[in-house]
Amino acid sequence: MRSWGIPAERMSVEGAQTFANVWNSLELQHDSREFRFNGLRVFMGDGAKAYGGELWVSRIDVEKLFRPLLRQREFEAEARPVRRIMIDAGHGGQDRGTYSDPLALSEKEIALDVALRLGAILAQQGFEIRQIREDDTFFEKGQRAVMAQLEEADLFVSIHFNAAGNPNAQGTETYVLTPARQRSTGDAATPIAGLGPESGNDTDPWNAVLGAEVHRALIDRLGTVDRGLKRARFAVLRLAKMPAILIEAGFLSHEEEAREIASPHRRGEIAEAIANGIVAYANQVQAVQPKS
Ligand SMILES: [Zn+2]
Repeated sequence: MRSWGIPAERMSVEGAQTFANVWNSLELQHDSREFRFNGLRVFMGDGAKAYGGELWVSRIDVEKLFRPLLRQREFEAEARPVRRIMIDAGHGGQDRGTYSDPLALSEKEIALDVALRLGAILAQQGFEIRQIREDDTFFEKGQRAVMAQLEEADLFVSIHFNAAGNPNAQGTETYVLTPARQRSTGDAATPIAGLGPESGNDTDPWNAVLGAEVHRALIDRLGTVDRGLKRARFAVLRLAKMPAILIEAGFLSHEEEAREIASPHRRGEIAEAIANGIVAYANQVQAVQPKS
């Protein structure tokens, strides 16, 4: 970080250390995969480690996360301008996803509602929009990734809502594909040797930029609990051939959050937030394009 012009404060006795310049601040913690990127909660693949009075992060995290977040220009060659966007409303048909009994609200319905709202907003901003589904149809996850590729989409965004056994669980989380040779967020046990690259890993750097922009837009706009930008090997992310994210916008199992999500106004805010994040990402990609 120092070599990138981001000086560090002294590490605290608890093993926390902040790296900051006028543009960016990174708050890391010894033995933790979690850090704060300009206040936003982000998960690395490996925990930060204290050594010689400084915190160190793994080489994979430097290349697949910190470098893309802080030095996008180095990934100019892989930058794909955003013209066509594939929106994936999660679940559908016989697969209703999660469900709120008290509100008789199913994930497949509200994911579709947000997807259609998002498509309308982005179309107005000049993007070409494709939808995996515009009604209550079921598609296999793998099929969704293939459809995005056949449509030559430049970006894939999958919309979901969450549920948990713990009724207090709430907030918003955004997922990008786990880099090869790293464990997904929450996984501490899978042998690293088996975690080879997937086709979605070709776009690791821009996945990270897209994830950070959309996650920040969601947290800023919705004011929900920040559950973090996380990593997972969900099928739609593994098989995507373009930068891709999966959003879990809120919890249907949380009484108050579910009641909010049940309101069309709130779903409009969710769609606007995602659109803002995508526009911010598209601008980042534009910014590294050679001027012609
Ligand atoms: Zn879902």
